[in-house]
Amino acid sequence: MRPNILFIMSDDHAAHAMSCYGSRINQTPNLDRIAADGMRLDNCFCTNSICAPSRATILTGTYSHVNGVMTLNEKLDGRQETVAKLLQSAGYQTAIVGKWHLGHGGHADPTGFDYWNVLPGQGAYHNPKMFEMGQERRYEGYATDIITDLSLDWLRRRDHGRPFFLMCHHKAPHRPWEPSEKYRDLYEDIEIPYPATFDDDYANRSRAAAAAKMRIESDLTEQDLKVPPPSGLSAQELKKWKYQRYIKDYLRCIASIDENVGRLLDYLDQEGLAENTIVIYTSDQGFFLGDHGWFDKRFFYEESLRMPFVIRYPKEIAPGSTSDAIVLNTDFAPSFLDWAGLPPSERMQGTSARSVFRGETPADWRDSMYYRYFMHADNHHNAYAHYGVRTHRYKLIYYYETEPGPVEWELFDLERDPHEMRNVFDDPAYADVVKELKAELHRLRVEVGDTSNPWDGEEALAQR
Ligand code: CA
Repeated sequence: MRPNILFIMSDDHAAHAMSCYGSRINQTPNLDRIAADGMRLDNCFCTNSICAPSRATILTGTYSHVNGVMTLNEKLDGRQETVAKLLQSAGYQTAIVGKWHLGHGGHADPTGFDYWNVLPGQGAYHNPKMFEMGQERRYEGYATDIITDLSLDWLRRRDHGRPFFLMCHHKAPHRPWEPSEKYRDLYEDIEIPYPATFDDDYANRSRAAAAAKMRIESDLTEQDLKVPPPSGLSAQELKKWKYQRYIKDYLRCIASIDENVGRLLDYLDQEGLAENTIVIYTSDQGFFLGDHGWFDKRFFYEESLRMPFVIRYPKEIAPGSTSDAIVLNTDFAPSFLDWAGLPPSERMQGTSARSVFRGETPADWRDSMYYRYFMHADNHHNAYAHYGVRTHRYKLIYYYETEPGPVEWELFDLERDPHEMRNVFDDPAYADVVKELKAELHRLRVEVGDTSNPWDGEEALAQR
């Protein structure tokens, strides 16, 4: 029988909060089981680091400007091709449970799923309301447990004679990071370590970095922190106190995810399904965990760009393997089609990564990727729109909006400056690198068909 696909995705879980990625701040034994039995991707990147766009990309295998979900303001038009529809027509039984976040009603409800039961919008952590095949229902308990229960219920009553494709989408650990009762006091008596760039002052960077309202010290709300801060703290003590409040609740939410992924893995073991089921754990994007003094995502910087991605499929993937190939969220859908024995879709812009997972990355696999964050200067986060290119060694970023402007470039040498603290765009030593990367950026924009505003690459081409 064709392989089952169990795709587990959380919301805003950064790779550096998983122990198999070397986390300094928590342990995730069940997520690590997937990595130990299969492969960990070290350069899995999203193409637009925010919730709805990444989800639309995963379902359609296309970039944001193609699937139409560029910011949080657009719904996914379900009349377009999705991997769920293709798998469903090919005889897979399909389901999605948990976070959808691509709109409701009209053409926005999930399509291509035999069963769907999703949270409205962001959904609630406690006693969540859900839409089961369009019918509103309320569930008692904690969202991460409920989403797993509903996933297991569906697996138990599925047709055992046909392969399944299940998307189990957790709401956690999205802001405002509300843990379950069970893990409420986890980490209570310890101090979580601080990241290397916790006290970043945004010198030597674009103005966009300094303008973003994602700072631990000033932009966490009362709802995020849950209790008022103690009095009499110095500014630095208060910042540290806020970080501890934030990161502990974030990690407590992840503890529930880890436990619940373990329940799904145990079910596969008990039912004898482990051998023929591809299991993936990922997140819609990364997150700043106090890195650069921030929470949240959006930027093309490493912490928010990198998606955790671990995958197990005993028939094809060697246990304990890793890959540094650049894999994108556009590649997920083409990979699912490949495993299902279906032809590649002409519309999808990604490439099946099956060879990467087998440890046989082709010589012509991509060595650069295109990124674009469209949602310019929203009221809450004030992150500026930008696009750019990343290679294995360098990253070129262009902040292209003139209001409030100015337009700016950043270049980072990731080998010498892995934390991206020093913009070397204007350093004469990097003039040739800038020239090459601008040409590559232009090439990628043409390749993916994003030729909209405002830099058209003429400058780069003229320089060649
Ligand atoms: Ca997200």
